[in-house]
Amino acid sequence: MGYASTGLRSSAIGQCWSRASAEDGLNHVFISPSLDSAYAVIDTLAHELVHAVDDCQHKHGKEFKKIALAIGMQGPMRGASAGPALKKRLEALLDQLPPYPHGRIKSSAKPRVRAAPPRARCSECGYRVSVPKRFLHLGPPMCPVHQSAMEPLGDWEVGSGLAQAIPDPTSVTPPPLVQGSSSG
Ligand SMILES: [Zn+2]
Ligand SMILES: [Zn+2]
Repeated sequence: MGYASTGLRSSAIGQCWSRASAEDGLNHVFISPSLDSAYAVIDTLAHELVHAVDDCQHKHGKEFKKIALAIGMQGPMRGASAGPALKKRLEALLDQLPPYPHGRIKSSAKPRVRAAPPRARCSECGYRVSVPKRFLHLGPPMCPVHQSAMEPLGDWEVGSGLAQAIPDPTSVTPPPLVQGSSSG
């Protein structure tokens, strides 16, 4: 369970990442927590696993279609879902499993974010320093090498309960090659 890279309000209900995009060399699949029925989850999982078998190489092209049809999926490939025979098999699987332990997260809800601690970095030389909360109001420090104002990283909102996580610009997030789409 996890959010697609496009976030909670995204219409994507599933997402598959290629093997090359993960350090463990495995496909990673996300199923949106906005789905609340066990069947919708397993149906979406089946769709994303087709992308995993294809290693997200062909989006919803004919290579994807070949795998999808072989396991009994139907419909426009972008939102391909289980046809009647596969549906029966998935439902039989669900019968053997305990109830899906999940309550849907409302899209109006806001998560409690653990913010990155406030730091500063020189954009020229990369010099980094962490900044104590009580000095945040003074602004980012100067780089000892370049004597220029460093850029703030992490959470610089003084005393904010619901902190906003400011992404660290040095961390790179590759875009997923293929995104799941809404299916019925
Ligand atoms: Zn510097
Ligand atoms: Zn898809």
